[in-house]
Amino acid sequence: MHVGGEAVTAEAGEWIDVVSAGRRSVTLARVPRGREADADKAVQAARAAFPAWRDLHFKERQKALGKVADALADAAEELAVLTAKDTGNAIRTQARPEAQTLVDLFRYFAGVAGEFKGVTLPAGERQLQYTRREPLGVVAGILPWNSPLMIAGFKTPAALAAGNTIVLKAAEDAPLTILRMAEIAAEFLPPGVLNVVTGYGAEIGEALVQHPDVDKVSFTGSTGVGKHVASAAGERLAHMSLELGGKSPSIVFPSAAQNPEMIDTLAQNLLLSTRFARQGQSCTAGSRLFIHADVYDQVLAAVSEKAAAMKVGDPLDEATDMGAIINEKQFNRINEYITDGKGQDGVQLAVDKSTDIPDDLDGFYQGPTIFSMGDNSWRVAQEEIFGPVLVAIPWTDRDEVIRMANDSHYGLAAYVWSDDLDEALDTAHRIDSGWVQVNQGGGQVIGQAYGGYKQSGIGREVSLEGAMEGFTQVKQINIKY
Ligand code: NAD
Repeated sequence: MHVGGEAVTAEAGEWIDVVSAGRRSVTLARVPRGREADADKAVQAARAAFPAWRDLHFKERQKALGKVADALADAAEELAVLTAKDTGNAIRTQARPEAQTLVDLFRYFAGVAGEFKGVTLPAGERQLQYTRREPLGVVAGILPWNSPLMIAGFKTPAALAAGNTIVLKAAEDAPLTILRMAEIAAEFLPPGVLNVVTGYGAEIGEALVQHPDVDKVSFTGSTGVGKHVASAAGERLAHMSLELGGKSPSIVFPSAAQNPEMIDTLAQNLLLSTRFARQGQSCTAGSRLFIHADVYDQVLAAVSEKAAAMKVGDPLDEATDMGAIINEKQFNRINEYITDGKGQDGVQLAVDKSTDIPDDLDGFYQGPTIFSMGDNSWRVAQEEIFGPVLVAIPWTDRDEVIRMANDSHYGLAAYVWSDDLDEALDTAHRIDSGWVQVNQGGGQVIGQAYGGYKQSGIGREVSLEGAMEGFTQVKQINIKY
């Protein structure tokens, strides 16, 4: 682990083996199994580093974060390869873009470090009334395994640019890129500013959430664990933000599919939105596909053809489109959902590639499944599967499809596909989600507001405005001359 600028082991001397997701027989490394005492050490290191880091001129933090960005850029390929090994995400379609996003986020927040500033009130000639944006103190950033570098990038540079120090808790299934990131950054940051601990959520994760000296918990993970984290952090009135699960709707209007060329482009972009290239292990996956009945058959056929052609394989192979599922538990969970979906009345299978994979691969691999003629009430349409499974549902009436889209306790992302500005914007505005994309299906853009409605989360940290809200508190100063 990285604590106070040093590589450290766990106090109790325990370890966790890290197995390669794509090659289960390969143990990549072992990482310390941190517990309460280790959480405490990391928080103390972050606390000790806080005053000096906070008190720097912003230009100094900017310079340091800029150097970290440069060093991470130099190491981007190494980080991408490590991501592919650690998470099972395919190198070309997923791991490289993730490493690049981390670099971009460090550059962005280095650039805007001077914008964490307050305002003055025009309160008369004999008064100076102004606000300061002060950092919160020590932030605990709790990370999931699905795209660790990108999510560490959503938290770390923003928290540090604002003058906080941070303790990251890497996910037990994929901790290696986060440790490597900290190692690279250590050369440019004072000891204790960026710490990384490893171990199980119920042990060191819980200890961080409970720690009285952690001022903010920035959690990304499942809604179930998020609720527990929220109540534990709320109990001691710590600041918190939660980036949780999703079951995002994708709504296709006939205007987006007027001819074969449009249908082909649409299918390509829809495929991106399904996040099949990440084995569906993405919180923003457009996993409920509502296609208008007039173009249902053509659009579904085009998406299905492209999905079925995806190459499932070794995450390190450049030809691979879809890598490995993270672990056996997740693999079994996905298969339970597929069995459940296959048992629904009236279900049709547009793509059934869940077992159709080369058997020489030593990992949990799975091709896409697309259920057709689905119903929004089915479990596979309501619950987050976090696997390469899509449910296509026909619709005819705009109000009805918006009602179905909003009939979910999640509200993270959404996709609208239309060639008509009025219907596209009317739909985008009426969807209860924190992020709606029109006619595109890619990932988050640096600096955008990102976060969930409803049970998909609380807080926005990726935009400058969100980071100011999320990583500072406002102090008002009123002075009489
Ligand atoms: P998870 O909730 O099981 O674990 C997330 C992290 O929390 C891990 O580091 C884990 O060790 C830790 N943790 C577990 N119990 C804890 C506790 N009691 N106290 C503190 N920490 C604890 O999630 P996961 O399986 O790693 O990730 C998948 C989930 O994350 C999906 O639901 C997905 O939608 C969600 N996710 C959301 C976003 C987003 O931006 N909204 C991004 C990625 C993933």
